[in-house]
Amino acid sequence: MIRRKVTVLGSTGSVGVSTLDLMAQTQAAGAAVYEVEALTGGANVALLAEQARRWKAKVAVTAHEDRLAELRSALAGSGVEAAAGEGALAEAAGRSSDWTMAAIVGAAGLRSAWAAAGRGGVLALANKESLVCCGRALIDRVRAAGGRLIPVDSEHSAIFQVFDAVRPEGVERLVLTASGGPFRGRRREDLAGITPEQAVAHPKWSMGAKISVDSATLANKGLETIEAAYLFDMPADRIDVVVHPESIVHSLVEHRDGSTLAQLGPPDMRTPIAVALAWPERLPWPAPKLDLAALGRLTFEAPDLETFPALGLARDALKAGGAAPTVFNAANEVAALAFLDRRLAFLNIAAVVAETLEAATTGGLLTAGGDCDGALAVDGEARRLARTVVDRLSA
Ligand code: NAD
Ligand code: MG
Repeated sequence: MIRRKVTVLGSTGSVGVSTLDLMAQTQAAGAAVYEVEALTGGANVALLAEQARRWKAKVAVTAHEDRLAELRSALAGSGVEAAAGEGALAEAAGRSSDWTMAAIVGAAGLRSAWAAAGRGGVLALANKESLVCCGRALIDRVRAAGGRLIPVDSEHSAIFQVFDAVRPEGVERLVLTASGGPFRGRRREDLAGITPEQAVAHPKWSMGAKISVDSATLANKGLETIEAAYLFDMPADRIDVVVHPESIVHSLVEHRDGSTLAQLGPPDMRTPIAVALAWPERLPWPAPKLDLAALGRLTFEAPDLETFPALGLARDALKAGGAAPTVFNAANEVAALAFLDRRLAFLNIAAVVAETLEAATTGGLLTAGGDCDGALAVDGEARRLARTVVDRLSA
């Protein structure tokens, strides 16, 4: 039986809902007991209030200050404290708890992930953008507070489970698997008129809109390459990507003696969430299980870097170092959201990232960064550069 005092940042999103679903199932089965400290969300105040009532959270926070009155009235009589805004979010994230799920999307999750990292306990990190922006500073902060960072991204959860942290020198190479997204096998010219609806229709994973667009451009695998470099202290040239459309092998670790270890499972985020929730225990829940004979075969192919240049741009940013990953992330976020708003063509997402990285390099932005405030300053400046590129390309 595991006992956890839990905070879920971004509880109303895809990963947040999966986290609470897994908690509900394991608590009902008597495998775990949870006490919920804080739940946070964005504009979906009704769902946030329902979750906070169900879990008797101490506090529920919406990111939008203008929705506070609505949240208060939805929580009336429940005993759950209501709060709103960025400061309240960071305050809730820094409250005492054993386990914090960071599942806000984008750099918007950075301040709260940073606050949770400084508090100790487990930081279950789904919000890859905060690690890409802050890099080692975030990892060092978790360590300094006596906490533990456990990745939730399925690829990094896979590597985390098979990585020999005691003898990391035996590891030769990390291999991240990629589903290839909805446009795998298409040529560049086929992607000119892609709509947001087509881009978010992921063949294997059901996820939030922004990460779905990232999966379609392969920017997601770029962010994950950077994430893996920081988490497992590996240089870019020892992290490879292989496309694996079935999304069964979640990633692999190759050792210098030729032995490669992989982690497998059906594509369901509740399994990596369960790993993070119970580590080093294993949490029993009615997980979908693998039936390899029914699957018959698993396939692999090299990524098409010409059609999907965002992956190469992320690798270049990782090699450039400094604040380049932060700039990559900011530009990609601005471009992906502009595409979702129908202001930018699909093929121009990577163009915005490339031009922003160039402008940031010549503008001397890459030497800045560092801790949370430094990363947010770079993020803000990179967004400003990216918006001017979006405006020009969408005119
Ligand atoms: P989502 O869009 O479904 O949910 C995002 C959550 O963040 C929601 O609760 C939303 O209210 C909140 N949010 C959005 N903007 C905010 C802001 N400005 N301030 C505060 N809160 C805000 O996203 P998701 O798919 O759950 O992804 C969350 C994170 O997990 C992302 O970083 C993503 O890359 C990562 N991730 C997701 C999956 C997946 O299967 N969905 C898999 C691996 C990693
Ligand atoms: Mg992933």
